[in-house]
Amino acid sequence: MKYYSTNHQSDKVSLSEAVVRGLAPDRGLYMPEKIPTIPAAFFKHIGEMTLEEISYVVANTLFGEDIDSSILKKIVSETLNFNIPLKKVDDNKYSLELFHGPTLAFKDVGARFMARLLGYFNSQEGSEEVNVLVATSGDTGSAVANGFLNVPGVNVYVLYPHGKVSRIQEAQFTTLGANITAIEVDGTFDDCQALVKSAFMDAELNEAMKLTSANSINVARFLPQMFYYFHAYAQLVASGVKGNEVVVAVPSGNFGNICSALIGKRMGLPIKRFIAANNRNDVFYQYLQTGQYTPRKSVATIANAMDVGDPSNFARILDLYGNSHANILSDISGCTYTDEQIAETINATMKENGYQLDPHGAVAYRALCEHLAPGETGIFLETAHPAKFKETVENITGTEIGIPDRLSAFMKGEKRSVRMSAQFPAFKKYLLSRQEKA
Ligand SMILES: *Cc1c(COP(=O)(O)O)cnc(C)c1O
Repeated sequence: MKYYSTNHQSDKVSLSEAVVRGLAPDRGLYMPEKIPTIPAAFFKHIGEMTLEEISYVVANTLFGEDIDSSILKKIVSETLNFNIPLKKVDDNKYSLELFHGPTLAFKDVGARFMARLLGYFNSQEGSEEVNVLVATSGDTGSAVANGFLNVPGVNVYVLYPHGKVSRIQEAQFTTLGANITAIEVDGTFDDCQALVKSAFMDAELNEAMKLTSANSINVARFLPQMFYYFHAYAQLVASGVKGNEVVVAVPSGNFGNICSALIGKRMGLPIKRFIAANNRNDVFYQYLQTGQYTPRKSVATIANAMDVGDPSNFARILDLYGNSHANILSDISGCTYTDEQIAETINATMKENGYQLDPHGAVAYRALCEHLAPGETGIFLETAHPAKFKETVENITGTEIGIPDRLSAFMKGEKRSVRMSAQFPAFKKYLLSRQEKA
């Protein structure tokens, strides 16, 4: 299967090229040339299948032409070495708990899949090591670092702003060692991003070492996210819920998660409609209301992984629906909530249902509470464990939240980082010195 750019200027490329490049040369996002459908028979038996079995069928439908089936099976199996349970929260409302992976957030799925796919494609090409650069304000760095940990032939450099990342988050990428190097930059997240961008544009550096990015626009990070929507549907069917009126609410920031589900629907997944749930960063919601897309600077909220003012995957959604506002409205509605509403939802849901939401999941759960029609069944995505936002959640509820063992295990590790100024020459010199040693 070939992948085209949403800007339609660059040539179509193979899957391996799309994964290694990340972004197309014309700055567009790669999309699969065809969206294959899964035969209806698959959905008749989906309730009897495991997460791994379902994911393999979906992965094989998308990537089967490009990867040997035994290798794809192994990648799927290693990616999904944790559960993604669907839990009933209230009548007709279910939580898809995406926080049972190594870093307790849904980004584990895409990061783990991409790491293994990149490792595989790189080993096909020869022995040269590939270096992944990633700038993080917290969550992405931990998912990518843990996803790529010990993947042969791949080195990861996580750049993060000194003093601006929570201790829990920092521990998740500074204590790993092996092929993961944490670079602690004296500057802001924007400085980290600028260093990464300069590195990709530096001819001498690119000559000396193979560089790539692992940000969320990569097809190998975004497409595998559809696996768990198929599995969520399967769990509904298995629990005896009739699956023809299913509505899915997705807490959205860069819109990669919801976009993978929209492609899943195109492949045959019987979801009736989607709700894109926003915090106050609501440019997509405004687009749905007006047909005008007006990017803005993001504002800080308590659901901070969704503080995005110009979602990169908007281009993919437009492309998928032929640039038609009406077509988009037929599948997706939106909503937007303030911090006060998010806090209120967290407290009310604990009181009435005994369920602890995190600030991101709370946005989506509230969307279901307000917008589910009679006869519909709602699934919302719990995109991270509430303990990842311990202080925020405790301030809202006034109750301490326990830290899961695998999160506290990170806190026991020894922090190792390389302190660096935000000046590009120093970063470049450092990368080149690492390359010489290798
Ligand atoms: C990244 C993230 C989101 C937003 O996902 P997108 O794919 O960018 O829309 C939502 N919740 C949490 C906890 C996240 O880390």
